[in-house]
Amino acid sequence: MAGSSGDVSESARKLVGKVALITGGASGIGECTARLFVKHGARVVVADIQDEAGARLCAALREGSASYVHCDVTVEDDVAAAVDHAVARFGKLDVMFNNAGIGGAACHSILESTKADFERVLSVNLVGPFLGTKHAARVMVQAGRGGCIIGTASLAAAVAGAASHAYTCAKRGLVGLTLNAAAELGRHGIRVNCVSPAAAATPLATGYVGLDGEAFEAAMEAVANLKGVRLRVVDIAAAVLFLASDDARYISGHNLLIDGGFSVVNPSFG
Ligand code: NAD
Repeated sequence: MAGSSGDVSESARKLVGKVALITGGASGIGECTARLFVKHGARVVVADIQDEAGARLCAALREGSASYVHCDVTVEDDVAAAVDHAVARFGKLDVMFNNAGIGGAACHSILESTKADFERVLSVNLVGPFLGTKHAARVMVQAGRGGCIIGTASLAAAVAGAASHAYTCAKRGLVGLTLNAAAELGRHGIRVNCVSPAAAATPLATGYVGLDGEAFEAAMEAVANLKGVRLRVVDIAAAVLFLASDDARYISGHNLLIDGGFSVVNPSFG
């Protein structure tokens, strides 16, 4: 796939001249997206709480194309400062990727779920994207050049029982935030979308199910609808790239499922 490895030719680059801010950019989907965005000509701000990993990633990307900023997405001042850092460092903000997230306790029973875990997951996975959307919109509306805001929701927002109550509620909330923000910000030329991936092997996902590497991928393949095709992290980054690019210039308020058809299949079919 173009962009998954190696260089992207000048004419195939989708984000030339764009500036993007990626929360949770130091690992997994965020890291992969940062690498792909830079290959496609963007300059990126990687925002995370894993300072060493984030700084290491930015140092490894094309010189002058990436900048790391410490940002806990649950802290409004951090999010506001990360957005302002993007503008100060690269002159503007075109793409906000609200991607930071946690799995929380791998507990599917409401009887055993704790209020503390519920609040922690909502704080990172829903309040975080709310703050990111709010502060990205602040600078995008003021600049008057439009923009694009993307969130990482989850297949867990579309099907019951795939994750804890906290995680499902947070991701479903993020889909709601996407719809509302798309409705409000459209008049400013700002598109707002989200992606809802199935499980891909990242520290969050493998840690959540307690399986690593091959065992994780085999377990996911066993329940997948699409056989013989394993979901890779770069498949998710590619969908985010599409939504961020001008190829998606008339797409807003959309929740793009990346689940190989899992959520639309009736289990009794076939
Ligand atoms: P990951 O653990 O590799 O990356 C998550 C990143 O978020 C980490 O770098 C972490 O440090 C950062 N983070 C956590 N709390 C933060 C905070 N308070 N402030 C700033 N950064 C914080 O996991 P991932 O799978 O790449 O997760 C990225 C997003 O994708 C999450 O929102 C997750 O819920 C979502 N998602 C993942 C999968 C999957 O299977 N991997 C599926 C659907 C949705």
